[in-house]
Amino acid sequence: MGSEQDWLVKLAAGGVGGKLVKALGLPAPVALVRGGTGSAAPLAGRHFVCRALPGGFAGEGAAAALSALGAEIFADAPAGDDARIDGVVVDATGCRNAADLRSLYEVFHPLLRRLARCGRIVVIAARPDGQGDALAAATARGIEGFVRSLAKEAGKRGATANLIVADPAVAPERLAGPLRFFSSDGSAYVTGQALTVSGLVPAPAGLPAPMRLSGRVAVVTGAARGIGAAIAARLAEEGATVVCLDVPPAQAPLAEVAGRIGGVALTLDITGDPAQLADILGERFGGVDIVVHNAGITRDKTLANMKPEAWDQVMAVNLAAIAAADATLDARGLLRDGGRIVCLSSIAGIAGNYGQTNYALSKAAVIGYAAARAPALAGRGITINAVAPGFIETPMTRKMPLLTREVARRLNSLAQGGLPEDVAEAVCFLACPDAFGVTGQTLRVCGQSLLGA
Ligand code: NAD
Repeated sequence: MGSEQDWLVKLAAGGVGGKLVKALGLPAPVALVRGGTGSAAPLAGRHFVCRALPGGFAGEGAAAALSALGAEIFADAPAGDDARIDGVVVDATGCRNAADLRSLYEVFHPLLRRLARCGRIVVIAARPDGQGDALAAATARGIEGFVRSLAKEAGKRGATANLIVADPAVAPERLAGPLRFFSSDGSAYVTGQALTVSGLVPAPAGLPAPMRLSGRVAVVTGAARGIGAAIAARLAEEGATVVCLDVPPAQAPLAEVAGRIGGVALTLDITGDPAQLADILGERFGGVDIVVHNAGITRDKTLANMKPEAWDQVMAVNLAAIAAADATLDARGLLRDGGRIVCLSSIAGIAGNYGQTNYALSKAAVIGYAAARAPALAGRGITINAVAPGFIETPMTRKMPLLTREVARRLNSLAQGGLPEDVAEAVCFLACPDAFGVTGQTLRVCGQSLLGA
């Protein structure tokens, strides 16, 4: 992984530094384990406890999916006080009242002290809105509060806790993709999140492995640097041919990224004529499978001090260009069946942010855009989702004032900033065939930031 980690993660990792961090009462962020997610068996050698609470429908499928990823599955923690477990997956879809919920306590209470650093917790719960009675709906919803709180406790040791929400009508194979993501190192900076798996999008004919994106054509906007460059690299690693797009002044770094990953560099301003991109994708590739709307800009000022051009530029790049590009690809039938659209949002679009009325509006709009378009695209096997990063170490956040930057970095359950690679992993997961159960949603990559929590 190419990106630099932050100074406090490095300091806390050292013997003397670790003691100093403790003595000063600073948060001690754990160096997160990343990488290796391109493998067909990302959980090889990992010990997972997989439990199904009574009445659930997802336990067997979950255990089979974890085994297929190489994990060794146990019903309980291995004997011996020192034996660590790398993950806990619990099917809680059968919980319908307070008495049922006690088994959550009973399962997790003894296991948590055994969870390894950077371990994984995944809970599967029923959809609250799919429950027949109010108490069952309340129970299902309550599990979300449980997981979000557990994530805050797990974060102290660099571990994550996430929730998969599904209803019984959903085939178990739909859970495999989200389970892969939440239980592997690719979700190092994703915690306290819930993903709903729906039956909206038909299952693809066959799920390729291990190069999940072989034969697919992807376009990534804003690919010359930061998050976009990491996304392009990750998609290429999974076998996609990646068209790396950025503005003409970014030609040199763009060519470097495209050259490094065996992709194609395309200098183009996305606020220009959307026909340009469609022409190239049509002529050179006959269409496109994955569209990642990553290019984004900030023009921060309080609304009272904001010049109209700052408002207009942000809307043009962060919102209008996305809708215009998609409309042109649609009109020409260039987005192929089984396609994937991923739009980069931001936690500013969820929480709002001082001095970012324009940016937060555009990023909230993108969340609405993904949710609104999902049903119409589903019939063709196409998913559309948003990814909302929190504080990520990139040139964009390097421009922030020192103190603001330091506060933003620490205000999350993992007490550190994320890396572009963390966002790339989330985008890559959503772009993969096995994410077909996830559409119209927003996945936060924010270490469970307190903003908009
Ligand atoms: P960045 O500024 O480092 O990179 C953005 C890239 O987009 C640049 O290469 C830029 O040249 C390109 N771009 C800008 N306008 C363009 C246009 N009109 N046409 C083509 N390309 C254009 O940003 P980043 O931090 O890597 O952010 C990537 C995305 O993630 C953005 O949408 C951003 O809003 C979002 N995001 C970032 C963070 C973070 O912490 N860095 C947090 C939340 C959301």
